[in-house]
Amino acid sequence: MLDYIVVGLGLSGLAISEGLINRKKSFLVFEDNSQSSSYVAGGIFNPVILKRFTPAWNAAEQMETALPFYRNLEQKLRVKLVHEWNIYRRFHSVEEQNDWFIALDKPKLSSFLDPEIQKNTNPNLKAEYSLGKVLKTGNVDTVKLLDNYRDYLNEKGHFENEHFDYSTLELNQGYIQYGDIQAKNIIFCEGFGLKKNPFFNYLPLRGNKGEYIVIHSEELQLDFAVKASVFIMPLGNDLYKVGATYDNKDKTPGVTAGSREKLVKELQKLIRCDFRVVDQVAGIRPAVSDRKPLVGTHPEISNMYCCNGFGSRGVLIAPNMAEALLKNIESDNSLHPEIDLQRFTKKHFKIN
Ligand SMILES: Cc1cc2nc3c(=O)[nH]c(=O)nc-3n(C[C@H](O)[C@H](O)[C@H](O)COP(=O)(O)OP(=O)(O)OC[C@H]3O[C@@H](n4cnc5c(N)ncnc54)[C@H](O)[C@@H]3O)c2cc1C
Repeated sequence: MLDYIVVGLGLSGLAISEGLINRKKSFLVFEDNSQSSSYVAGGIFNPVILKRFTPAWNAAEQMETALPFYRNLEQKLRVKLVHEWNIYRRFHSVEEQNDWFIALDKPKLSSFLDPEIQKNTNPNLKAEYSLGKVLKTGNVDTVKLLDNYRDYLNEKGHFENEHFDYSTLELNQGYIQYGDIQAKNIIFCEGFGLKKNPFFNYLPLRGNKGEYIVIHSEELQLDFAVKASVFIMPLGNDLYKVGATYDNKDKTPGVTAGSREKLVKELQKLIRCDFRVVDQVAGIRPAVSDRKPLVGTHPEISNMYCCNGFGSRGVLIAPNMAEALLKNIESDNSLHPEIDLQRFTKKHFKIN
């Protein structure tokens, strides 16, 4: 009998799998490629919400666990995954520059914001009110991470590239049966795919669609990321990722002409040179009504768990939430009430 079945191999399923390997547990992961959020993510880690200059939820603490987690994986998988670079926040006005100085005095932000305002020297970037430099930021190459991790799990016999069919799951006393597989526990990590999970679809996972375009521009010559109304991230070879959009209504998986137009329009307000759109991607962020993760045990089935709800910040949140859940299951550590999915039981769960 296996210790665990894991459903989904995005950032959540990956962090859960690592936790299980570290604990020497037997497990099998099912992945059906139905969701793309972790694959299309910019993979950016940034502890500051740059719209309002406020700290992102627990981000400084999450960074302390998440960055070593990805660095360990770099060693294990022998690939470069973590790239450190600075984000430059473009100011729209003198008032925004002042807001930056006010934020510098906040203890949770001061170590992440450079006190010196940076003059713009790139003629193709429109930034007349200069730029603020955010420190200790960068990105994780999620495509490389997930592709390599999938191969790694496959080699170890932990991976099934197959849809998990909820209707064939049988619940028995103390274990579950799925086809000819028996397991003591099951952890669901399906991202927005949770909506199709009959055990957990009562949870208020809203979903928020995000799209990026990739542009090619020889003239732009930007060697840092810029956050304005859109985010521009250099990819090398004159390519840049531009995005992302936020859409609460559209839950379809594909790219849209509307988002492409919107991103092109915003980009034209930010740069002066020509560019060509060469690619576009979309994914649905697993966003929750109260913007906190959904972690914990099913209200009625004691060996069934969920690790989800990472919204727009999966890179930093996933390793922390996976560890919190596994410590809860294996060592009986309690979950913090603000992440525990039990906060929604009374309001949303219908007892059978
Ligand atoms: C455009 C965009 C940009 C983003 N940028 C960033 C960023 O820069 N930084 C950041 O931290 N976060 C970013 N995010 C958010 C981040 O992508 C998510 O928080 C994170 O990827 C969620 O991971 P997950 O594993 O919970 O879900 P997912 O990535 O959706 O993974 C769930 C997996 O489960 C699989 N699955 C679902 N149902 C089944 C089933 N029945 N059987 C088998 N497999 C199943 C899916 O195929 C999928 O692989 C971005 C998101 C988008 C859309």
